[in-house]
Amino acid sequence: MSRLAGKTALVTGGSRGIGKGIALRLASEGALVGVHYGSNEAAAEQTVAEIEAAGGAAFALGAELGVPGDAAALWAAFDDALAAHGGGSGLDILVNNAGIAAPGSIEEVTEAEYDRVFAVNAKAPFFLIQQGLPRLRDGGRIINVSSGVTRIAFPAIVAYSASKGAIDVLTRTLAQQLGARGVTVNAVAPGMVETDINTEMLADEAARAQFAASSAFNRIGAVADVADAVAFLASDDARWVTGQVLDATGGAHL
Ligand code: NDP
Repeated sequence: MSRLAGKTALVTGGSRGIGKGIALRLASEGALVGVHYGSNEAAAEQTVAEIEAAGGAAFALGAELGVPGDAAALWAAFDDALAAHGGGSGLDILVNNAGIAAPGSIEEVTEAEYDRVFAVNAKAPFFLIQQGLPRLRDGGRIINVSSGVTRIAFPAIVAYSASKGAIDVLTRTLAQQLGARGVTVNAVAPGMVETDINTEMLADEAARAQFAASSAFNRIGAVADVADAVAFLASDDARWVTGQVLDATGGAHL
């Protein structure tokens, strides 16, 4: 498939987990993919190597998110890496995927924990979009990775849930404005997916069985389940879909 031939994509947090799956999938469709990482350069280079081994094109770029100046630093790294890769300038697909978990109920979450999860999950995508817009070509795509917790209440992770709620509202609001440029803005909301973020939780067999049972398909999600939904939104097939939060929870808690 080469639905994305000639397109340039950036996947934040493309070094591991869901972001890695998205990077591999977009590259398999012909996009040149910027694989962003926070601190794990080796994992990002591994993603790039897997893409290249499969015949695709990609480059790695690092920038810590959730710190002052993060968006400017990421875009500077992106511009440099893209130019070094001969990719010219500009991009077509921005996937805001990087995120962190934040356990804690309303009684437990500290102000510092709240600030941190909002800085990485909500503020960083906001300013990445703001500073990315001049680079994003007309007809482009912005895809934000939200979470099923904006539909399904999980009081034990309330600050995380609220940070993803901010993403859903940002998605709908920007879609209205950016339609004039033919840019679609959508979110994908995964349910429980087997990645590093959940290693501890999924090590508990009872919890694992419970999460699986909450899906209509009685299993935990795989990275590819989410990456495929993102690839749809990135494609021309989704040109008439904007401002949506696509539930990719495997029908959890229907
Ligand atoms: P992982 O922990 O497996 O990967 C996180 C990725 O984000 C890594 O690439 C990591 O980079 C990057 N990252 C994390 N924090 C920062 C930071 N401060 N600065 C820069 N990069 C950072 O997570 P998942 O793949 O599971 O999650 C991806 C997205 O999906 C997140 O937004 C998450 O909230 C969401 N999600 C996940 C679900 C799940 O069950 N897994 C369910 C619903 C939503 P590095 O490798 O350098 O550390």
